[in-house]
Formats: sequence, structure tokens, C-alpha cells
Amino acid sequence: MTNENKIIDGKLFAEGLRARIAVLAADFAEKAGRKAGLAVVLVGEDPASQVYVASKAKQTVACGMASFEHRLPADTDQATLIALIDQLNADGAVDGILVQLPLPKHLDEQAVVERISPDKDVDGLTPISTGRLALGLPGLVPCTPLGSLMLLKDRLGNLSGLNAVVIGRSILVGKPMAQLLLGESCTVTIAHSRTRDLADVVRRADIVVAAVGRPEMVKADWIKPGATVIDVGINRLPPAEGQTKGRLVGDVDYAGVIDVAGAITPVPGGVGPMTIAVLLRNALVAAHRNAGVELADTTI
Ligand code: NAP
Repeated sequence: MTNENKIIDGKLFAEGLRARIAVLAADFAEKAGRKAGLAVVLVGEDPASQVYVASKAKQTVACGMASFEHRLPADTDQATLIALIDQLNADGAVDGILVQLPLPKHLDEQAVVERISPDKDVDGLTPISTGRLALGLPGLVPCTPLGSLMLLKDRLGNLSGLNAVVIGRSILVGKPMAQLLLGESCTVTIAHSRTRDLADVVRRADIVVAAVGRPEMVKADWIKPGATVIDVGINRLPPAEGQTKGRLVGDVDYAGVIDVAGAITPVPGGVGPMTIAVLLRNALVAAHRNAGVELADTTI
């Protein structure tokens, strides 16, 4: 196989997913008499978060859903934020609530996330959503791991019996990723900063998911020939001389690993574009459940 054929194009897949979402969002609006709605809450002026929130709002509207943006000043207190979450929980036009993380240090992030109604938890981070995923019950699943699983299933089909190694055990990525792969009957190993002989552990994997936050850590000689590699990491390198901005790289040494792997997601253009597309998918699924409308395509 040529290296070009090994590239898993997340941008293209996300475009296709958004097109399917748009069709289903129009169907929902007709049946429910209102658009599906996604509320995004941003506290403070972090520039990266502002870019994410603007992009989410734009894509929500482009898919035919209603976007509700709530921008609060950096010194917002806990009670004010909780009151807004309560208001959004009670609002019949809002199907999904996303609180842009991280929150400013003085706020209790866990308490805010826990306040979100599990029926509107499009980030899949509340204890109820996490519990549902662990129990194999229907619920809302964190966007980045679900997007990664979609790419894996699209490339490999049935994952049953494959050895999967997930590097990273965060609540946002590593743990839900491992649960999803277990749900597909993979044999799952979760590696982390205390794992011994990480390279040997990774070498046993048919599927490697790297969610670490360390630039180009996973090397070519860690990879079993033909394995499928999903690189969740987004790291900005220091700028090269004469440049103002450094290059974006993943947690995988892409240039080396692509020669050994059977398939690999690039950074950028792999998992990244899937995250917002799956957020919209989650909002749409939540809207159908909240309004009691049947999804016209349950494979979404
Ligand atoms: P995180 O909360 O910082 O977790 C990182 C995990 O990596 C931890 O479990 C940590 O282990 C483990 N780790 C750290 N150093 C290690 C090492 N040397 N060997 C093995 N494991 C090690 O990060 P995250 O939120 O999961 O995000 C991971 C990466 O994905 C980041 O680059 C982030 O920017 C990116 N990301 C991308 C998207 C997207 O849309 N594509 C979305 C979310 C995150 P311990 O638990 O032992 O500390």
C-alpha cells in the first residue's frame, strides 16, 4: 500500500458526517416544529477557547440547528454560572449544553459539569453519562473518542478481537476511548505515565490510540507492522527561526510511523475535525430523545 492510501482523512469523514447531520436536522425540525438547539457557555477571554466557540456556533448553524452562545466575563462567580446551567437545563429550545473547558481557576469545574442535565450532556462528561458508557447503556459519549471510533470502524470494519492500546487515561479521551473499544470487543490495554516498557506494550497493538499531549512521542519502532494508529494529540512546537508560530504535531512521529503502520490519522486533519462534527451529532441525538422524535437514521 502506498503511504497516501494509509492516511485516514478525518476532514473528509467529518464533512460527510455533517452533511448527514444536516439532512437529519431538517427532518427533526419538520417533525418537532422547532430546530435542534445547542448552547455553548464560555467563561473568560481565552483566545483559543474563543476560536473553538465561534467555530462550533458557525458549524451548528450551517447544519440547520439553533446555536445559543453565552459569553460570561472571566470573574463570573460559581452561583451565576450554576444559575445559567439551571436556566439552560429548563429551556425547551436547548437540547445540548457545552461548557467550554478549562474554566477559570476560581470556578469548581466538576460541580459545573455535574449540574448539566445528563439528557443535554453533549460532551458526555457528567457522572451519569460516564456510568451509562461503562454499563453499555445508551447515552451521550465524549466527542473526541467517539469520533476516533468512527474513523476506526470506517477503516477496519469489525474491530472484534483486535488488540487495542490506548495511551492516556484522561476522563475526556483515554478512559471513554477504552470503554468504546471494549464495547466493540477489542482486547484493551490502557497505558499511562506509570506504564513500564511502553514501547513493548504498544508493539502488541493492532490499534494504537495516542492521547498524551507529548509531541511525536510514539516512534516507528513501537508500531507493529500494519497496525492502525489514531493520533489524538495536538501539540504546537516552538516556532522555527524566522516564524511567529510553531508547527502543529500529534503525539505520534507521523513521518516515521506512516512507513510501518497500515493506516494513520494526520495532525492536523485527522481526529481534530471529527470532534466538532460529533458534538453536532450528539446534539442532534439528544434533540430526538428530548422531543420524543424517532431518528430517521440510527447509524449516525
Ligand atoms: P491529559 O488529561 O493531559 O492526559 C494525558 C494522559 O497521558 C494522562 O493519562 C497521562 O498519564 C498520559 N501520559 C503523560 N505522559 C505520558 C508518558 N510519558 N507516557 C505515557 N503516558 C503519558 O490530556 P487529554 O485531555 O487526554 O489530551 C491528550 C492530547 O489530546 C492532548 O495533546 C490534547 O491537546 C489532545 N486532544 C485533542 C482533541 C481533538 O479534538 N483532537 C480533543 C481533546 C484532547 P497519567 O494519567 O499517569 O498522568
